[in-house]
Amino acid sequence: MISRKDFLKTGALSALTIPAMGLPRATQAAPAKKSYDGDAKNVIFIVADGMSHGTFALGDLVKSRQYGQHLHWTQLYNQTERPYHRGLMDMASANSIVTDSAAAASSWGSGQRINNGGINWSTEGKPLRSILPIFRDAGKKTGLVTTTRMTHATPASFATAVSSRNFEDQIAEQYLEAKVDVLMGGGHRHFAADRRDDGKDLYGEFRKAGYTIARNKSEMMSASSSDPILGIYSDSHLPYTTDHKTDAELASNVPTLAEMTVSALERLDSHPDGFILQIEGGRVDHAAHGNDVSGLIYDMIAFDDAVGEVLAFTENRDDTLVIITTDHGNANPGINGAGPGYSNAPLMLDQLHNFRHTNEWVFYNLPEEPTAGQVRELLMEATQLDLAEMDIEMVMKAMKGELATPYRAERTASSVLGKVLANYVSVNFIGDVHTGDYVELAVLGPGMDRMDSFTRNTELFDLMVDMAGVRAMAKSA
Ligand SMILES: [Zn+2]
Repeated sequence: MISRKDFLKTGALSALTIPAMGLPRATQAAPAKKSYDGDAKNVIFIVADGMSHGTFALGDLVKSRQYGQHLHWTQLYNQTERPYHRGLMDMASANSIVTDSAAAASSWGSGQRINNGGINWSTEGKPLRSILPIFRDAGKKTGLVTTTRMTHATPASFATAVSSRNFEDQIAEQYLEAKVDVLMGGGHRHFAADRRDDGKDLYGEFRKAGYTIARNKSEMMSASSSDPILGIYSDSHLPYTTDHKTDAELASNVPTLAEMTVSALERLDSHPDGFILQIEGGRVDHAAHGNDVSGLIYDMIAFDDAVGEVLAFTENRDDTLVIITTDHGNANPGINGAGPGYSNAPLMLDQLHNFRHTNEWVFYNLPEEPTAGQVRELLMEATQLDLAEMDIEMVMKAMKGELATPYRAERTASSVLGKVLANYVSVNFIGDVHTGDYVELAVLGPGMDRMDSFTRNTELFDLMVDMAGVRAMAKSA
């Protein structure tokens, strides 16, 4: 029973809110201790690329319904013992309210807003000093872990400076110059002599510099933890979680983001003077661009598994600043109400449990001019859904560029397939590009007491540098 006084005090809405499944009502987390510059021996920055608020909710809903557990990230918000800061962040770049991943991560990596497309490249056209070299010069170890190509924008923005994010061959070389201790992700094509434009054997050069090279999960596991490591597990990006789980060979050869995270933390934590590590769930963004619903949600859950490892690693220690966030929204997906009293929405969402492959896999495996029967069959293999003839027709028209849509940006075949599947899983997208949403931000450990509810992206650079006590190194060239 709620008394009238309680009702007035808490407000009608909160008093009537149903607690989240299996969790107590969230209350205020324990207060944070006052922090001083230099309190953070370590910094862990964990970022889901292109995670809209709807993606966060979808990850949590699907994980709860399918596996009976909330995201680790949500669990953090639903406990009271461990202090944390939660807020929103404005990720705008120098030239737009909608950022790309390069300008977004550069704002954290150098403390400057730059134009979209560059990596730590000032609006005056000059390279900026980035955060991993700053920490390295202060005697700390450094690491980058990602599910994209190692040379992709988000990891690159913590250790390199180039005028265009497309200069990935150059970014690979700059990692060697930056002496990053742990590098793990995809992107073989930017390290192998026979894949690079200049024919340079970067694996050889890394080996000469003392690195262990790992090309699969077992090589990662057996590599000496005292040497620096270059772990490259795919020619381009690592596979989506949905495809990874279904393919036995991929599952045994390619580590998950959580496995790479554990391996990276073991290596870096052995160093007495601390470390900085960036961990990126990079393909959440790619799936959002592709309106690829199973790719999106299961990569979000896999990203959160890495969050779980970071939270476990830092559980009983107060020497590590942890930042959990995303760099921008993308395609802003959401679960739509469906059926009488919206009662069909949860059942439709549960269809996702049966998906065995992503939409990307479907397009990759279709012949050049497929018949309606071939499209239908492959989609059935991927989703276990028998799509209506009308839906298959729309996808085929879109593949030929013959389908008109009210919003012209969603005419692509991938967008149309995403929208067609919304009729079955009730998840829809508003477009297929980045959005200017203010993003979710969680901070734990030393420094969280300095955070306001609303943060400008560049403030995180200052927070990391000050809390780690490495400000002096930020100035030197
Ligand atoms: Zn993107």
